[in-house]
Amino acid sequence: MTELDQVINALFPDILRSVQESVRIPSVLGEPRQGKPFGEEIDRALCHALETARSLGLRTGNLGGYVGYAEYGEGPETVAVLGHLDVVPAGSGWTRPPFDAVLEGDRLYGRGTVDDKGPIIGALWILHCLDRCGIVPGRRIRVLLGTDEESGRRDMPRYLAEEKAPHCGFTPDGAFPVVNAEKGQLRLSLSRQLPEGDAVRLVAFEGGTVINAVPGEASATLASGAFSPERLIAALRATARKNGCEARISGTGSLVSLTVKGRSAHGSTPELGVNALPLLAGLLVETFPEEPWAPVLERTASLLLGDTEGRGLGIAAEDAPSGRLTCNAGLASLKNGHLSVSLDIRHPVTFDQEELFRAVEVRALEEGYAVSVLRKAPPLWIPEDAEPVGTLLRVYREQTREDARPLSMGGGTYAKSLPRTVAFGPRFPGCPDLAHQPDEYLIFEEYLRLLRIMGAAMVALSS
Ligand SMILES: [Zn+2]
Repeated sequence: MTELDQVINALFPDILRSVQESVRIPSVLGEPRQGKPFGEEIDRALCHALETARSLGLRTGNLGGYVGYAEYGEGPETVAVLGHLDVVPAGSGWTRPPFDAVLEGDRLYGRGTVDDKGPIIGALWILHCLDRCGIVPGRRIRVLLGTDEESGRRDMPRYLAEEKAPHCGFTPDGAFPVVNAEKGQLRLSLSRQLPEGDAVRLVAFEGGTVINAVPGEASATLASGAFSPERLIAALRATARKNGCEARISGTGSLVSLTVKGRSAHGSTPELGVNALPLLAGLLVETFPEEPWAPVLERTASLLLGDTEGRGLGIAAEDAPSGRLTCNAGLASLKNGHLSVSLDIRHPVTFDQEELFRAVEVRALEEGYAVSVLRKAPPLWIPEDAEPVGTLLRVYREQTREDARPLSMGGGTYAKSLPRTVAFGPRFPGCPDLAHQPDEYLIFEEYLRLLRIMGAAMVALSS
């Protein structure tokens, strides 16, 4: 055990107390106030962390309530440890109070314990431990206290506008061993007019709650013209039965509604779910093939809704560092005969995003869809032998004695907010992902291991 490890061990009860204090501040996004861009509670959490840092003898700064920092060491270059103090709302399903920071056995329960207050408050304490050990780093080490990771990520642009970008950095807001590839993200909305119905009018067609999840349910409403509602219901039920499709079908007056079930999954891994939208489209098209809207809906299903690899759009591809392109149809709606579908495309890290976007646009226009961009986030990729990935991998291997390999992810971590920065911890391989879950907790032993690894990484990157 190094001297740094010993100091971290000795201060562990104090570190835990600091984390508890922070968790007791329900720092969920709130109404902006003067100097408090993300609301009262987030500002309280930021002030608490800065006060803690000052009480530990660290230099601190606050950039208008957007980002705070605490630093140790001297020199023109900085190593950044990026984390955030905002949390997602508690949500339902908790068996302990989410903001009481209850200690129970070898665990601390509460919203933000692992995402991301535990890791980042711990990082402040590690700066203090380095000081106690008399370690003189060759670069300044700055712990950056972000405040808007969970919402708009409007915090770090402010930092980069006012401060010099770090030499390199890591964010303990992802997973170990180290995430060196994060796919690029293209969120698009495609829309077109749907032809009117003949004997059966399609009044509503919708599914999905957020763009980055596979719709687990989709529903439609039909208005019967030439046929009685009973006849429509019978026809739909027959098709559903034939296809083994789980559907709820009912009538009110002249309207018939149906809801089809799929299985939800995260939008970065759509292949793990079953999208309810193409199932619904398939059921409607098969039951009413003569309707003028049927061919367009069928085409939409095969082009946009039904495949998770972008084959319909002609963009299916993969690369070695990050794997396959994924495409999730997360939302669909029909308003005034206008059908729109929102796609969440995650593309391999070595692809040119603009080129890919143009390919989608050309294809979509050919098929009669208008395209608008909802969000573009470029990929992140730092090869295994480049800084800081090489050093972080070495530190992780030394600390755990595991033959660790870097990870690639479809989702975008906080690391994308700073150049030359990657996600490093806090989740260990094989451990459940507790972020955003009810009863979020940290286990003392794992937390201590995280602190030691972060300490070793700060020393290695700054020397
Ligand atoms: Zn987080």
